[in-house]
Amino acid sequence: MTERTRRRRVLLKLSGEAFGGGQLGVNPDVVSQIARDIAAAVDEVEIAIVVGGGNFFRGAELSQRGMDRGRADYMGMLGTVMNALALQDFLEQAGAPTRVQSAISMTQVAEPYIPLRAERHMEKGRVVIFGAGAGLPYFSTDTVAAQRALEIGAQEVLVAKNGVDGIYTADPNKDSSATRIDKVTYIDALQRGLKVVDSTAFSLCMDNSMDMRVFGMEPAGNVTRALLGERIGTLVTA
Ligand code: UDP
Repeated sequence: MTERTRRRRVLLKLSGEAFGGGQLGVNPDVVSQIARDIAAAVDEVEIAIVVGGGNFFRGAELSQRGMDRGRADYMGMLGTVMNALALQDFLEQAGAPTRVQSAISMTQVAEPYIPLRAERHMEKGRVVIFGAGAGLPYFSTDTVAAQRALEIGAQEVLVAKNGVDGIYTADPNKDSSATRIDKVTYIDALQRGLKVVDSTAFSLCMDNSMDMRVFGMEPAGNVTRALLGERIGTLVTA
């Protein structure tokens, strides 16, 4: 039997901040545009997505204001599920079949996280959206993106950023001399304190030789370009 040619498989990380368009909650216009960008690539690439939840809650911020960290982190994770459902809705409207898998059981709204089933969905052309992070407090969705990419055998983690189009030598919003880096190693990024993605995610990718591309969501079409393998933004390698 001849083996079916495997399509490129990627893990796309979308920050929650993007979903809110800078505000609390979900901005339907923004999510709909992101969904259309993703749907445009679904025939060519197998796509899994990890969504953040920063447009709702960040556990670390709530705990600084007096909440128990674990409980606040669970609130953060529940926020990512709301984003996952919003993205699912707009992806289906854009013609892309989807499944949501959650790391916290909530069988009415999402399948449980089952990696082999996620792979099967992708082989069938469905976009798989992972909600609820890792289901564990003290983790970030960046780290979950790296972990899920490894577990489902993705070739690359694509980190779509809001308001910045890659990794810079310094924060471009604060330092006008900052320049964008085309390519960097994980160790270099860690040593230089380049903080666009969290350090746990960087080290997990470094230890397991997983490539990461950090790029800007804007202008419209950028997410499609990254999904199709265009070399935009910054490539981070082991
Ligand atoms: N979170 C968590 N464990 C996880 C993933 C997320 O506790 O595995 C919580 C954590 O409080 C985090 C919040 O969910 O701040 C939202 O995720 P994140 O900050 O990564 O979202 P993003 O910045 O990408 O929008």
